[in-house]
Amino acid sequence: MIYGHIHQFLLRTIASRGVISMTETEKILNEFEANIQASVQELVKDINEKIKPFEQMIKIATDEFTVEEVIIFLSLGYDDATKSQNVFSATELEYFRILIEQIMTTATRQITGIHAVNLVSKMKSSFTKMDAQKLLNVWCRMRYLDKDDTNYALGVRAIHEFEGYLRQNMPDTIEECCLCKQIVFRGYNCPACGLAVHTQCLNRYLEKVQKWPCCKVEFSESQLDQLNCEGLTQTQHLEATQQSEEYNTVVEAVCDTSGDEDQGTQEIIPEISQRITRKRKRQND
Ligand SMILES: [Zn+2]
Ligand SMILES: [Zn+2]
Repeated sequence: MIYGHIHQFLLRTIASRGVISMTETEKILNEFEANIQASVQELVKDINEKIKPFEQMIKIATDEFTVEEVIIFLSLGYDDATKSQNVFSATELEYFRILIEQIMTTATRQITGIHAVNLVSKMKSSFTKMDAQKLLNVWCRMRYLDKDDTNYALGVRAIHEFEGYLRQNMPDTIEECCLCKQIVFRGYNCPACGLAVHTQCLNRYLEKVQKWPCCKVEFSESQLDQLNCEGLTQTQHLEATQQSEEYNTVVEAVCDTSGDEDQGTQEIIPEISQRITRKRKRQND
């Protein structure tokens, strides 16, 4: 199919949204034009040939969190040549690096909202908790992060955009799943042997047998609760209790003012240029 307005429409839609489910993409396309002669896969293939020189790519993948087929817009240019595309300030990049490092080095691959905003204290540049909360909101909308009631985890976009980069630049921070051998962005470290496993892989395994797949130690739900708590050190627990009120104030303040925060952020390319070493502490170490 000749590259035309339907391709441009699809590219614009995905680039502006970051991530769209396959079901919604098909619906949007049908509303835009009846009887399209190509499948989404074919359109994506044509678009990818066009945008490759700009180190951008559209990828069809499964969202580990929702188990839904999604289409993701990826900016893959992290090298010196493309740094000019980067609209993150140096400060924002510094925060993003610290955040990823924290998420990837907890046994549950997620951190609480309070912990996330408190990371500003680890930064060299001056950056307020309010600034951090605004960015966290923007990154959630862009699907660089996912958030449930209390925790942040890496979103489907960060997972696909950063996989190659993390393997190259943060090899000590990543671990492969003991079942499928892919990097674990959403998962746990076994409390007994410390090996990593995806949440999805673990759940599938547990349907058959109630043991950890890595070392066959008995599994119980309470171990996951325990791991979720261990994501924070004792001091952080204390801080978290003391600061939860302050945190709520930060969240409320940002929610009031963040209406137009994401203007012009669609082409943001977070870049992690410093090598980060693993800081996770295992029980068996
Ligand atoms: Zn796995
Ligand atoms: Zn184990």
